[in-house]
Amino acid sequence: DTLTDSFTSAIKKIRFHDDDKALTKALGELKKNLLKADVNHKVVKELIADVQVLTKEKGIGKDQFLEALRETLYKLLEVGGNKGFTFAPNPPTTILMTGLQGSGKTTTTGKLATYLKNKQKKVLIVAADLQRLAAVEQLRQITTQIEVELYEDEATKNPVEVVKAAMEYANSKIFDVVLIDTAGRLAIDDELMDELENVKKAASPDEIFYVADSLTGQDAIRTATSFKEKIGIDGVILSKYDGDSKGGVALGLSSQVQVPLRFIGSGEKMEDLEVFLPERIVNRLMGFGDIEGLAEKTANVIDEKKAKLLTKKIQKGKFNFNDFLEQMESMKKMGSMSSMMSMIPGMGNMSKAIKDFDFENSGELKGIKAMVSSMTPKEREDPDLLNNSRKKRIAAGCGLSDVEINRMIKQFKNAGKMAKKFSGKNGMKQLQSMMG
Ligand code: GDP
Ligand code: MG
Repeated sequence: DTLTDSFTSAIKKIRFHDDDKALTKALGELKKNLLKADVNHKVVKELIADVQVLTKEKGIGKDQFLEALRETLYKLLEVGGNKGFTFAPNPPTTILMTGLQGSGKTTTTGKLATYLKNKQKKVLIVAADLQRLAAVEQLRQITTQIEVELYEDEATKNPVEVVKAAMEYANSKIFDVVLIDTAGRLAIDDELMDELENVKKAASPDEIFYVADSLTGQDAIRTATSFKEKIGIDGVILSKYDGDSKGGVALGLSSQVQVPLRFIGSGEKMEDLEVFLPERIVNRLMGFGDIEGLAEKTANVIDEKKAKLLTKKIQKGKFNFNDFLEQMESMKKMGSMSSMMSMIPGMGNMSKAIKDFDFENSGELKGIKAMVSSMTPKEREDPDLLNNSRKKRIAAGCGLSDVEINRMIKQFKNAGKMAKKFSGKNGMKQLQSMMG
């Protein structure tokens, strides 16, 4: 119907030509958001540069920006690739749990045991933190609650002896996994590292997990790096992610420490452990619930500029066929009709009504395109030039009838008038009254 046609014509006025300034602005927004989310500044710098290059490669526009951002973030988070738990070829798979005091080692050990138990695995937990008096008792409570066997020996203060005996015990029985909870310190010191080194020798673990407290922000990256250098780590578990409103540390962790994130601790309960998934971090990072949200917000800077240009043109009544054709091409690249609709001031609510319009397959639009293609450059610039003899020539050129040509030109002109009307102050009201 003609009303729909009018709007589709109006929407075509949105231009998606290259706009470096708009992209720079959008990138500025993105940078601000990432720094606010506590992402390391070096990581931000690289990320912004990558998004810029990638967006330009794809062609500057909202969708392209979104795609570039998504790809870049995933690349950053996909370090190492292996996520979750890896079983050794020969059981038991032995894991050494390391980290600073209070980072969440003991809790995470219980969570990991719960996760594995739910996978029908037989787990043994070894109490090798003999620094703190309450540590063994804490593990006792946890293992009782989750019904997992605990290996402990309170008679000795030597974690190496405990681990040696525990490994013998584990080998004499059939366990799928052995999790060794170790002592931490408030800060990294040689004594801690020496103890860990000896425990590591006694256990010869398949993997060493580093539990990083996400609340410690950039410190988590520094300490993880130290642990990696001194005893070697195979995976990071980011604890207390539920309490970290920013969450940006996750992005820096995997890319800067160059060790894959394996799990995320998301609460105090034993069930609150999730296999690390990049999209979750990406979503969290953006703080908008989803990545599209951020991209919308940042990329709107691009679109707002374009929408302003469009409104100006519409209000001056300067529709011409040249723009028309150009925009039809870019329309195809753009996905959603409705998002473009909502860019036109005062027409946001109309977007739903035309959401289902199929640009790719509209016979009407194909006709218009054929018609415009048969016009001379001057005719495209100035629709008023189109007298009868010109129309006849165009009709012959594009294989349409005179009637069709007349109808399309009329629609095109009506669209211009309509768009002008509705882009004004009371546009929405007029529109609603028209639609009943
Ligand atoms: P450890 O000293 O490294 O063994 O740390 P703990 O396992 O004793 O944990 C220290 C505190 O952090 C405890 O109060 C835990 O309940 C809490 N905690 C550990 N992981 C998480 C988590 O993912 N979310 C929340 N909210 N608290 C956690
Ligand atoms: Mg502990």
